[in-house]
Order: sequence, then C-alpha cells, then structure tokens
Amino acid sequence: MAASVDGRTPTIPTLLRCCAALAATPGRLLRPREPDALLLSRLESVPPAPARASVELTVLLQGRMKAPTTIVAEGVRSLGHLPMAMGAYLVEHPKARFLIDPALCAHVHRRVLPDLPFPVPLLVAPDKPVLGLADALAARDIDPAGIDFVLPTHLHWDHISGLLELPESVTVRLPATELSWALDGPHAPAGVVRAPLRGRPLDPLELDGPPVLTFERSLDLFGDGSVLLVDLAGHTPGSIGVLLATADGSRVLLAGDAVWNRLQIGLIREKAPMPGQLFDADRDKAFETIHRLHALPADIEVVAAHDYEAVAALAGR
Ligand SMILES: [Zn+2]
Repeated sequence: MAASVDGRTPTIPTLLRCCAALAATPGRLLRPREPDALLLSRLESVPPAPARASVELTVLLQGRMKAPTTIVAEGVRSLGHLPMAMGAYLVEHPKARFLIDPALCAHVHRRVLPDLPFPVPLLVAPDKPVLGLADALAARDIDPAGIDFVLPTHLHWDHISGLLELPESVTVRLPATELSWALDGPHAPAGVVRAPLRGRPLDPLELDGPPVLTFERSLDLFGDGSVLLVDLAGHTPGSIGVLLATADGSRVLLAGDAVWNRLQIGLIREKAPMPGQLFDADRDKAFETIHRLHALPADIEVVAAHDYEAVAALAGR
C-alpha cells in the first residue's frame, strides 16, 4: 500500500463538485430518489449467532451542530433543523479497551479544519467549543495510554481527529479498502485529512466473514460474536458498521455516516446532493446501504454517528 499521508485535497475540483451538487439539489428537494422495491424484496436478514461475550459501551459526546432537515434527508418537507452530534465511543471488551471513531481533538477548528479545501470547513464545522478526546477520556478517569486500539467507521476528518491526542503507538484497525482509498494517490479524497494517521501503526482488516443481518460481509473481531464489523460501503468505500452485543443483552449497530439521521432509514432517503455528492464516495452504493438498514429487524438499535437524538438516547441508557 502506498501510504503517503501528506496530500491535501485541492480546492478547485472541490469547488466544481460543490457547484454540481448545488445545481442538482433543488430538484431532489421536490422529488427525492425513489426506493428500489426490487432490492427491498430481495433482502433477507441472517440473525447473528448468539454472542459468547458482551461489551460495555460508553458514549463520549464531543461536539454538536445542526443541519436543515431537508438536506439531511432529501425531500422531507420541513423548514426545521436537526441537531447533529460528533463524538467517540469507548468499548470495553473482556480482552481489550478500544475506541470506535476517535472523533475530535481540542481546537479542531484550528488544528484540522484548515487542512480541508474551501468551502468544506464552512459546511462541516461544529459549534465551538468542542470537547477534545483526551479531555473526554479524562472526564471518565481513563488514561489515553490505556486504549488498546481504535476502530474508525471510516476515515473522514470528524471520525479520526481525536487520534492527535492519543499516543502514537495506538494502532488504527479498519478495512484495507478504506486505508488505500484514503491514503493512496497524491491527494486525500474530500472530507479526509491524513495528518492524524501520520506515523501510526495501521492494521488493515478484511471483512471476509459471512452475511450478518442484511449485510453481505462481516468480520467477527474477537471470534465471540460480541463485536461484528459489517460492510456499509458507499459513504466511503470501506465504511463499516459495528454491531455490538451489549451487557444488557441488546444489539446496537453503530452505523457511522451511512446515514446522518434515522429519518433517512425510515423513509429510505439519501442525503441531498449538496452536500451528499461531496461526501458520499459512491451514491448508488450508499443508497443501497440505506435499503439494507431499512430492512433490519426492529430489535437492532441503529445509531448513526451524527444523529444527536439517537446518540443522546444511547448515552442515557
Ligand atoms: Zn461524519
């Protein structure tokens, strides 16, 4: 793998993509993309095998912002806004303590956002101040040196910037496809910053396990069914969901940015072209993944990373 971690996304192609996305948006707000009835009829859910261990899950809420509802789920007739969360998850398994989505460092507006091309920082900046990852861990009396590894759902800036506050020896584990998409080539894809990955041990994974639920590929991280990675490709090529068997006996699917809000799952709606076309690497694949989330059994609690209400509900359990 060519692991250059320096190339920034150039501004002019990003501006052109923004213009195309803006032009495509008004039509979609009036007439959203139609669900694929044939795909829905073909989806079957394979129950996960009973877990032989469980995990403790702790939400580390670090930042928030808001976005127009009709942009998050295109075509929803609303002038309202949805609250958006940014944060990390601490997972304690009998064999390891790890973080899913080491989201934000302190002063992310100064340390990370300037690495994104104009006008992306204007679109994605969380409200100030944000709680840095080290402070979020300290509030729980956890030493960053006690984190065994991190597992980003994907490599966008708002899911890995907290790495800047973890020891350089902490390994980043995620699909090989995601690593090569984000790190190969002279420029980072839109939304990716490479600096937090610089100098870190990277452990590429393959989701070569069987179908789980409505997802075609999986990886049983500890071999005991408690932490199952499932393929949520589309938003990025190696986006994963993390299906956790929690100590209270329930199953929680941390779904990263496959959707931004559960409204999209219920209604089967894409993010609007602006900014979805900018940040979804493969829109068709991302839409297919929304169908797979829609077809999940009701007892799976799906939590999208930026769905403030879902994240807050999980934190309050
Ligand atoms: Zn995100």
